[in-house]
Amino acid sequence: MRRITHWIDGDEWQGPTGRSAPVHDPATGQVTAHVDLADDDVVGAAVASASKAADAWRRASLTQRTRVMFAFRQILDARKDELAAVITAEHGKVLSDAVGEVTRGLEVVEFACGIPHLLKGGHSEGVSTGVDVHSVRQPLGVVAVISPFNFPAMVPLWFVPVALAAGNAVVLKPSEKDPSASVLMARWWQEAGLPDGVLTVLHGDKQAVDGLLTHPDVRAVSFVGSTPVARYVYETGTAHGKRVQALGGAKNHMLVLPDADLDLAADAAVNAGFGSAGERCMAISAVVAVDPVGDELVARIAERMARLTTGDGRRGCDMGPLVTAEHRDRVRGFVDAGVAAGARLVVDGRGVVADGDPRGFWLGPTLFDHVSTDMSIYREEIFGPVLSVVRVGGYEEGLALVNANPYGNGTAIFTNDGGAARRFEYEVEVGMVGINVPIPVPMAYYSFGGWKSSLFGDTHAHGADGVHFFTRGKVVTSRWLDPGHAGVDLGFPTHD
Ligand code: NAD
Repeated sequence: MRRITHWIDGDEWQGPTGRSAPVHDPATGQVTAHVDLADDDVVGAAVASASKAADAWRRASLTQRTRVMFAFRQILDARKDELAAVITAEHGKVLSDAVGEVTRGLEVVEFACGIPHLLKGGHSEGVSTGVDVHSVRQPLGVVAVISPFNFPAMVPLWFVPVALAAGNAVVLKPSEKDPSASVLMARWWQEAGLPDGVLTVLHGDKQAVDGLLTHPDVRAVSFVGSTPVARYVYETGTAHGKRVQALGGAKNHMLVLPDADLDLAADAAVNAGFGSAGERCMAISAVVAVDPVGDELVARIAERMARLTTGDGRRGCDMGPLVTAEHRDRVRGFVDAGVAAGARLVVDGRGVVADGDPRGFWLGPTLFDHVSTDMSIYREEIFGPVLSVVRVGGYEEGLALVNANPYGNGTAIFTNDGGAARRFEYEVEVGMVGINVPIPVPMAYYSFGGWKSSLFGDTHAHGADGVHFFTRGKVVTSRWLDPGHAGVDLGFPTHD
């Protein structure tokens, strides 16, 4: 049985190991590897290695750091398919989708290639006689990145390139469900010229996370995962004096106005509802249909769903399995609960015949209509291929529904009315908004993040926020060769 271990000091961890967890191929249901789970000693060794490497990396010139970014960019671009295969084998998403996630991660590496420009400070000459002021942004030291199972390459790439380019050493704690993508990328970073110790991959569960959150040498934590854990990470990390950004769960609504192009809206609902088997934080899980379009929209969504194939992600199917048997059973439980609560089950994915091993973690695309806001399928983040249609009487009612939701990650409006779209953009309380775009994931040079229970902290991922998060500002006031200084003066310095 293959063993996946930590990547510390530019090599596989050779020290003692304790607990481990099974890693599955979700399309076959088989255990394909065991991943080591770090205890406190391994966390200590990982952070010590990163601390040792951080100082020299910080002193490496911007040119040297940038060259590593460019070299890694080339490697990642050339080997997208290799990484995608690793993702599919442990996560289950179909290969084309896995390539898509690598491509979106690559955009952040390309953004980080511009770090010299992004780290430029300001300069004011002559603020007082002979006095100049300039500002710089400096790295924090050792930072931790803790990522979820659903994007084993893209989410680490939201943070790692920006943190490294800014001069930090990173300890990455990937999800224990699909840990191999992080290790493969760490090898590629080494090949790109990143000095050993500057990037560490630490495998583990709550114990490893707690070790990072309380370690005095970890200066900042970027977390992505479910809302309860995000809240815990934010509270624990900040209580230990760290800078924390913790991105949580979601329940994304798509509001369809009566004037929308219904074919476009139906395509979008299916793509955003069932892509990656609904295991995306930007997946659409609630379609809010402004009547009278509900019946027609549901019919067009159902017609498209009938053509979807579910199966092994390596076989060219549209949708793969869920990540674990437990998660599949949990999602199936939501479908049972929706039926029991009286929602109309339009398409039932529970009996799906998958193109793959019968032991895989299968559940087919499922559609509910006439869902009400008190039902668990509406209230909870399901994180599976279950789409709920809620009917409303008008724009105001639809907007109120979106804004009443505790989450605020992504949302979309489908309409041909520019005035309505503009109003929605202004009034909706959500961090990322699509207008006739169902999954409005910002480009790397903007920042990614939700509002309310979808993000704890005040900075979003990558873009300007990312550079800000991984650096701290310093302002320098200098006076040179000023023979005309005023001598002793205990008054507060002012600049005339
Ligand atoms: P998760 O919260 O179970 O795990 C995330 C990370 O936290 C993992 O590395 C895991 O090992 C660790 N962890 C799990 N339980 C912990 C605990 N009790 N204490 C400390 N650490 C713990 O999330 P997941 O199931 O891996 O990922 C799916 C969730 O992530 C969904 O809720 C999804 O919406 C969310 N997500 C959000 C975004 C976003 O940008 N907002 C992006 C991707 C995923």
